[in-house]
Amino acid sequence: MQHAPVELELSLTNSFSEGPVIAYNTVAQIRGSEKPDELVIICAHLDSWDLGSGATDDGTGVAAVLEALRAIKAVGLRPRRTIQMVLFTGEDQGQVGSREYVKQHQSELNKISAVLADDSGTGRLSTIRLNQNFAAHKLVDTVLAPMKDLNLAEPGMDRYYGSDYASFNEVGVPGFATSGTQTDYYRTHHSAADTFDKIREDGVVQAAQVLAGWAYNAAELPELLPREPSISILSPH
Ligand SMILES: [Zn+2]
Repeated sequence: MQHAPVELELSLTNSFSEGPVIAYNTVAQIRGSEKPDELVIICAHLDSWDLGSGATDDGTGVAAVLEALRAIKAVGLRPRRTIQMVLFTGEDQGQVGSREYVKQHQSELNKISAVLADDSGTGRLSTIRLNQNFAAHKLVDTVLAPMKDLNLAEPGMDRYYGSDYASFNEVGVPGFATSGTQTDYYRTHHSAADTFDKIREDGVVQAAQVLAGWAYNAAELPELLPREPSISILSPH
C-alpha cells in the first residue's frame, strides 16, 4: 500500500449567519360553519435536508395537504369545524415550527380536535397512527369507515416521536401521523437521493384523498376527539 498526501478541492456555497434567522409556518383554513373556533388540523413540513430537494421528506406531504384543502373547497363542502392546514418549518431541526405554533396558540389548544401530520414518504397511506391515544380509537374508526375504497387498515396505536404531531402530544392535544408504504423511504429521505423522480403519483393522490376525507369527517363529528390522559402529563422537552 502506498501513502501519499491527498489534495482535495471543495466548492462550498453555503454561508452561516450569526444568531437565529426568521422562518415562517404557512397556514390556511376553511372556516367552520357551526363551530369556527374549533379546529381540525392537517399538516406537513416545508423544510428539508439540503442534499436533495426533499421530494419525499416532506414534499409529498406538503402536496397532499395542499390538495386535500383545495379539494374540500372545490366541491363546496362547508365543514362544521374549521379545517386548517399548516406547513411547518424547522421540522428537521427538531420540530421548531410546530413547537412555536403550540406556544403561540396556548389559549386555543383545547379547541384543537386533532392534528394529523403527513410525513411518511411517497407511498400510499396504510392507516393513521394514533400514538397511544386509545380513547380516540372508536371515533377514529367512525371517521375512517366511509373511506373503505382507500384500503386503510385499522388505526395503529403505537407511539413514535420525531415529527410535528409530537409537539401537540407533548401538550395533550391529540397528535396523529399517517403511516406510509414507501419501502425505500430510508434510502431517499435526508439524502441526495430525495428528488422528484422518486415520487409515486398514486401514493400522493391517495394520501390527499385520505387527508381530505379525514379532515372533513373529523370536522363533522358531534364532539372533539378525546385527550389521552397518559399523553397529556408529558412535559415539553
Ligand atoms: Zn419529515
